[in-house]
Amino acid sequence: MEGKVILEEHFSTELNNKFWDAKGEETRNGRAYAQDIERRLMDSDAYVTEMDRCGVDVCILSLTSPGVQSVVDTKQAAELAHSANDYAKLLMQKYPGRIEAFASVPMQNPAAGADVLEQAVKEFRFKGALINGYSNVGPGDNVQYLDEEPVWEFWERVSKLNVPVYLHPREPLPSQQRALKGYPELGGSAWAFGLETSTHAVRLMLSGLFDKYPNVQIILGHLGEGLPFLLPRLQHRLDAQREGLKGAKCLRRPSYYFANNFYITTSGHFHTKQLHAAMAQIGVTRVLFSTDYPYEQMDAGCRWFDDLEMENVAKAAIGRTNARNLFSLTLPDMGVSEIAGSAS
Ligand code: MN
Repeated sequence: MEGKVILEEHFSTELNNKFWDAKGEETRNGRAYAQDIERRLMDSDAYVTEMDRCGVDVCILSLTSPGVQSVVDTKQAAELAHSANDYAKLLMQKYPGRIEAFASVPMQNPAAGADVLEQAVKEFRFKGALINGYSNVGPGDNVQYLDEEPVWEFWERVSKLNVPVYLHPREPLPSQQRALKGYPELGGSAWAFGLETSTHAVRLMLSGLFDKYPNVQIILGHLGEGLPFLLPRLQHRLDAQREGLKGAKCLRRPSYYFANNFYITTSGHFHTKQLHAAMAQIGVTRVLFSTDYPYEQMDAGCRWFDDLEMENVAKAAIGRTNARNLFSLTLPDMGVSEIAGSAS
C-alpha cells in the first residue's frame, strides 16, 4: 500500500538522553539493543529513508518515553520540552510535508503545558501533543495523572485548540511494581505499559472530562492498550456495582467515551485477529496505522499491513485517510484502489 501515514514514531535528543534512564531497557533487552535503539532515535535521516522504502508518505514524530514527563524539576521539564520541540521543528523544515510532530508538553505545570502546546500548534503547525502517561511532580510517588483537577486547565486549552492528545505508555511507578517482582522482563512494553496506560485512559473516561470538553480526542497506541477487549467487561461490572456508581463523576458509560473521544493505532501490535476485534469495538474510522519505530521495525509493520486481506475502503481509511482527516493533513487525493490496490 502506498501513501501511508504513521504517528507513533519516536526520536530523542542529546538533552533527553541526559535525563533518560535506559536501565530498564538494558535490563529487558540487553545493552547492544538499547544502544542500537538510542542510535536510531537520533538518526533523523533514517526516518525518511525507511518511509520511502515502506510506502509511507507522512510520519508524525514524538519524543521517546518517558521524555518530559519524568523530569521532576519544573524548569528543567520546560527546557526539555522546548528543546525537543525545537528539534522537531528543524526536522519539519528539513522534510516539509513528510515529517510532522506532536509537541512535548511540561505537564508538571499544566498552564505552562497548555502555553507550550498552543504556541506549537498555532505558530509551528504541530499536530497535537504526545504525553507519556503521568508526570512526576516531586520525589517518589508524587505524580499527577491527566484526569486530576490541576490538569483541567490544560484540557480547556486542548478543547479550544481542537487538536488530539496521544496518551503514550511509560513504566508504572516503582511503588506499584510488586506484581512484577521477579519478572523484570514484564516491566515495559511487553506487559506493564499496557496496564498502566489502559488504567490511565479509564481514569480519563470516568473523570467527567469528556462531558465538560466533548470535542477532546485521545489517541491510544498498541491497538488501544487492551481496552477493546476489556471495556465491555468494565462496563458490565460498573453497571452491576450500583453502590459503586454513587460517586460517579461522569454522565455517560465508558463505551460512549471510547466511541466518541478515542482513536487507537496499530503501533507495535501487528496482529490481524486483534485488529479486526478492535475495529469491531471502536469502528473503522477510529483506527490508525502506526509502527512504533524505532522500537519496532518500520518495514515489518508495513509489510504486515500491506499484506492484510481487508476491504480496500477500510484499508485506505486505516492506512491514510483517517489520519488525514484527524490531523487536517494536506495530502494529494488518491483513489481507494490506488491506495490499497497497490499492496505488494
Ligand atoms: Mn511508542
